[in-house]
Amino acid sequence: MSNLDRQATLTVCGGRSDVAAGPVHELLAPRHVLLGESTHVRRLLPNLGRRMVGAWAFVDHYGRDDIADEPGMQVPPHPHMGLQTVSWLHEGEVLHRDSLGSLQTIRPRELGLMTSGRAISHSEESPRPHARYLHGAQLWVALPDTHRHIDPHFQHHSDLPVITAPGMTATLILGELDGAISPGTTYSPLVGADLALARGATTRLPLRPEFEYAVLSMSGEVHVDNVPVTAGSMLYLGCGRTELPLRADSEAGLMLLGGEPFEEELIMWWNFIGRTHDEIAQAREQWVSGDRFGAVHGYAGDRLSAPELPAARLKPRGRTR
Ligand code: MN
Repeated sequence: MSNLDRQATLTVCGGRSDVAAGPVHELLAPRHVLLGESTHVRRLLPNLGRRMVGAWAFVDHYGRDDIADEPGMQVPPHPHMGLQTVSWLHEGEVLHRDSLGSLQTIRPRELGLMTSGRAISHSEESPRPHARYLHGAQLWVALPDTHRHIDPHFQHHSDLPVITAPGMTATLILGELDGAISPGTTYSPLVGADLALARGATTRLPLRPEFEYAVLSMSGEVHVDNVPVTAGSMLYLGCGRTELPLRADSEAGLMLLGGEPFEEELIMWWNFIGRTHDEIAQAREQWVSGDRFGAVHGYAGDRLSAPELPAARLKPRGRTR
């Protein structure tokens, strides 16, 4: 998935100053974004009041969509730098192609993890034929300065660790939870977990007080620390928690996102995460000239063209507005 916005706005984020040091409840409403010609997504991060949760810097939730008579997801080749992309599905499938030559179908509760390092390009599409329903999320993890220039790589993990408790099945996407560790490579302390709750389930998740957390409801009605969270919304929880009470009023599918507050200040623009205006401008030029991000083979269509940079110079600053 990509930021296809033709009027790409700059987002500055990172830095510790605005992290909620203690437990809070901040309900984040999604912003509706049209991705390409036919895919509607709900953007939870960056959000008006909150730009990051740990190193998680971008969260799009899409579906459940009936695409039986539609092309479904069609995201043309586009570049990334300074981040990892996480593809996570509850229904349907996404075909991933990248400039390393990877060609991988990603299915529900399998991890598609692409580490851009200094430069990669990829496309994502609904294969033909495809399942009737498409429901998933696309997330970005910011790479720390120590690793943002590494070689790009792609990982696919179809056998992720699962934790069960009465009424709950948790699948580790990234990081560690309750002793289970995801095989996905991470570059800063963080966690991503998929939580499937049965109707009526009540449970408590163990958390780390030094992490900040948020919970996204992908489907169902759930109470997170006694706060109702409807499908498509995300509750930011701050730091300082050792556990998280969950109660499902219906069958529910959640994502738990967390991590150590990301101290470095970032500039996010279009599909790039950098540290300076010049670095972002150079990446844009090198996507236009075609001499840095490689080529994606096999996608039926043109690659994405870069939007214009905003006139004002980009400067990093704090992590909430
Ligand atoms: Mn992408």
